[in-house]
Amino acid sequence: MSIHRSRARSALASAQSELASDEDQRLKYVALELRMAIESITYDRAFAYKSEFPPQEYETWQPKKVMSVLLEIDSTADSDSTLSFGMEPSPGHKPEVMNALGTEVVFNLQVIKRHYDALGSYLHSQTLKRTLSGSGPDYKKMRKRCEEIASALEKALASPVFNSTFGIFSSFDCCECKVRIRRRMPRDKDSLVIDCFDCLASYTLTRMPDGQVRMDPHQQKILCANTGCGHPTIILPREIVNGGDWICEKCCGRNEFRLGLVHHPLT
Ligand SMILES: [Zn+2]
Ligand SMILES: [Zn+2]
Repeated sequence: MSIHRSRARSALASAQSELASDEDQRLKYVALELRMAIESITYDRAFAYKSEFPPQEYETWQPKKVMSVLLEIDSTADSDSTLSFGMEPSPGHKPEVMNALGTEVVFNLQVIKRHYDALGSYLHSQTLKRTLSGSGPDYKKMRKRCEEIASALEKALASPVFNSTFGIFSSFDCCECKVRIRRRMPRDKDSLVIDCFDCLASYTLTRMPDGQVRMDPHQQKILCANTGCGHPTIILPREIVNGGDWICEKCCGRNEFRLGLVHHPLT
């Protein structure tokens, strides 16, 4: 998890504890913490675009400017998405069973921008006009908005998968080494074969009719070569090389890949 995402979580926790105090005078602190949570979640989101929008470009910027650029890069990055995977029955064929990795609830950038400005207005003294007219701050409205923002932030921060900016590029944790993989999905392509930079895993990314991207890890089920065992193991295609081996979990024997030459005499 990025430092920005954990900052967003801790700011949200402070905001929620201030909200729970039920004191109207504390609402300005709620607004401040929520604003900080929004800033952190925006920086976190920006990180998902680091190939398009390198962090060194925006590290000195105000969050609002970062939000505007993100909206420019991808105004469609606001949809929720679900990541799932399955084993291909044979290379290139659709898996029969798909396992969901989780659904990402995106804290919509347009909404972020709107709330951010509103929260800012809670941090200033009320206008002279309002003071002169004798109407105090509308705490009820302020509390309602803060609660709404806190709940949206909570949902976004609780997503098991996040910053998967589908339609542009895909981002997920490698099934093997857990390192984050982010790849741009070219607009003119419907599928893409990618390799993890940190391990031997490879994947096919497929654009689905609904615009989401499906990620299928390349795996193969191979049986132990011990005739008395035959225990199946999942092997990555990039592991199938001459001399590559694995220890069978059941019989503890070692299976080794060997190049073979088979001669077929003329019949
Ligand atoms: Zn990996
Ligand atoms: Zn075995």
